[in-house]
Amino acid sequence: MKAEIIAVGSELLLGQISNTNARHISAGLAEIGISVHYHTVVGDNADRLGQAIRIAESRSDLLIFTGGLGPTKDDLTKETIARHAGTQLVYDDEALVSIRAWFDRMGREMTENNKKQALILEGSTVLQNHHGMAPGMLFSADGHHYLLLPGPPKEMEPMFTVLAKPLLARLAGFSGPIASRVFRFYGIGEAELEHRMADLLDNQSNPTLAPLASDGEVTIRATAKAATREEAEKLLDGSETEIRKIAGKHLYGYDDETLVSKAASLLIGNGLTISAAESLTAGLFMSELAEQPGISAALAGGVVTYTAQAKQEQLGLPESLLEEKGAVSEETATAMAVAVRGKFGTDFGVGLTGAAGPDPHDGKPGGTVWIAIASGEGIRTRRLLLSGMRNTNRIRAVKAAMHMLIN
Ligand code: ATP
Ligand code: MG
Repeated sequence: MKAEIIAVGSELLLGQISNTNARHISAGLAEIGISVHYHTVVGDNADRLGQAIRIAESRSDLLIFTGGLGPTKDDLTKETIARHAGTQLVYDDEALVSIRAWFDRMGREMTENNKKQALILEGSTVLQNHHGMAPGMLFSADGHHYLLLPGPPKEMEPMFTVLAKPLLARLAGFSGPIASRVFRFYGIGEAELEHRMADLLDNQSNPTLAPLASDGEVTIRATAKAATREEAEKLLDGSETEIRKIAGKHLYGYDDETLVSKAASLLIGNGLTISAAESLTAGLFMSELAEQPGISAALAGGVVTYTAQAKQEQLGLPESLLEEKGAVSEETATAMAVAVRGKFGTDFGVGLTGAAGPDPHDGKPGGTVWIAIASGEGIRTRRLLLSGMRNTNRIRAVKAAMHMLIN
């Protein structure tokens, strides 16, 4: 089955938002063996949408639309498809009830145009919207399948994954459950990892392994197909054993885990506390930790000491140290970590200092970072030589510090 994703929305063409819906849907279809041959983007315009539909029908079996199911005038996806297919739009009672209920809950009057959201193509399978109002639908006619999904990702993603994907899997004759697992690596480049895993990547077809690099991290998505979920999981366990042999401690997590979430759960789980003294990251390390639920049990606080003066006044670093070794040095990072740990009385104290770039700072080239972690067991330090943009370097510095914490 050949699929085409048609994202409808002028804001996509204007460059105001990225087409993350197409990305999400494509990734999901790959898991059920449906090949996506085209991504189309078209504005909120009935004629051009009609044209896009005709072209798509000439080359694809399954047309997946996102966007334009809402209540406003520019939402015209259903109307255009109905006209195109010579089909009626009819009210779906369940959707109507849930839209009414939504307005009742909000204590607001339901306007007439909102009713429009409960219209569906006659004869379609309705996908109720549990995260918004407009339902999705799957409609088949003349050898083509049309899947209509809402635009907002927080509505589209669960509807696609939970409701649409199983239907499509059946349509495509995809049998048996599939399971997938994302392996997350840090401290090893994509090229290096692929090189080490060449045999596995080339010769393995179940699970399939798909590497991806982004933000200084590499992930490999393994997707296994089997008759039962247990068997699929067992196949994934097999891959994991192989991958762990090759990647060692570079493999740090699975699925939605991140370096930050790992660091947070290790701290919280072990009843350990932490504080940070941040220079180049200016609070980013703490801010990232603060995003983790339950972190108040571990994160005591910290200081942002950007200037040499602030490092002296807030942390009591000696002027002589800063003059002799410089702000970007192992000694300064260490002194920061030790001082903040003492100030907050925590198990860990983290010191982050560096030249964010692009210009040199304090005689060190842009991208030079020193990280120190002080704990009851002593001091650990690490130097990074980064080459990214200023903000990328700050983010990488935080990731490196999190990675030190979980190792
Ligand atoms: P609504 O009921 O909110 O109007 P809708 O189904 O009519 O939903 P649109 O009006 O086309 O959808 O888009 C609503 C919002 O959803 C957009 O402003 C945008 O933020 C997001 N969105 C739409 N299409 C995409 C897409 N392809 N990728 C990511 N986000 C999208
Ligand atoms: Mg809309």
